[in-house]
Amino acid sequence: MPLWKRVKRAAVRAASLTVVVCALGGWAIAPVGEGIDPMVDANPLFPSPTSHALPAAEVIIDAGHGGIDGGTHVGDILEKDINLAISRKLYLILRSHGVRAVLNRTGDYALSDDNRWHRSSRHQRDLSQRGGLPEELDAGIFVSIHVNWSKRSGTRGPIVLHQEEARSALLGNFIQQGLNMQQQSKFLPQAGGPFYVLKKIKIPSVIVETAFMSNAKDREMLTSPRGQTRIAAAIAGGILAYRCVVR
Ligand SMILES: [Zn+2]
Repeated sequence: MPLWKRVKRAAVRAASLTVVVCALGGWAIAPVGEGIDPMVDANPLFPSPTSHALPAAEVIIDAGHGGIDGGTHVGDILEKDINLAISRKLYLILRSHGVRAVLNRTGDYALSDDNRWHRSSRHQRDLSQRGGLPEELDAGIFVSIHVNWSKRSGTRGPIVLHQEEARSALLGNFIQQGLNMQQQSKFLPQAGGPFYVLKKIKIPSVIVETAFMSNAKDREMLTSPRGQTRIAAAIAGGILAYRCVVR
């Protein structure tokens, strides 16, 4: 069984994870029951965390879509605006906990607008801009914020997609657990297969589908500042937990 699957299994089996205040002033997760040691199980595909000097950015927050790429929508409610609002809040929460976070867009524009030398399509430029930032910044993890949509209006809740890699799976697990607690859902994180950011980015990366725009209750949460703050806080809790385990 691949390493990331074993780590994910262990994390799921250690059903209750106790969050305790970290001795260093952040947060720590003390696994109850079966322990997992992601440092021991580091994936050879990625450089070991110890081989990194202090990264310039610990967390890159990717506010999904932007500019003429609105993402999914219901009426005039656009995914790109919700992604940006949640990402900004996430940025502020992480910074307030002393985490060196970077937000890859701060307004409504496509990342391809920053990338003039790539001669392919705007979509390709956008993706390569998203993919190049982690290397330029020597970042620790990459967290891409999105909103989901389903034909079935009853489907609701958060789904986190991760790479087929141990640290990404662990990060995905922590964020999924945080969002499940916040939204009273029971989704498991999923290995995200073909998505560009998960395939191409060389640091532990996750795509966070925060909730479903196609569900009325989720949509109310996604569009209210209070709901956005709660979502951001839940994601931040997962990142802080991961950060205390993987250092
Ligand atoms: Zn999206």
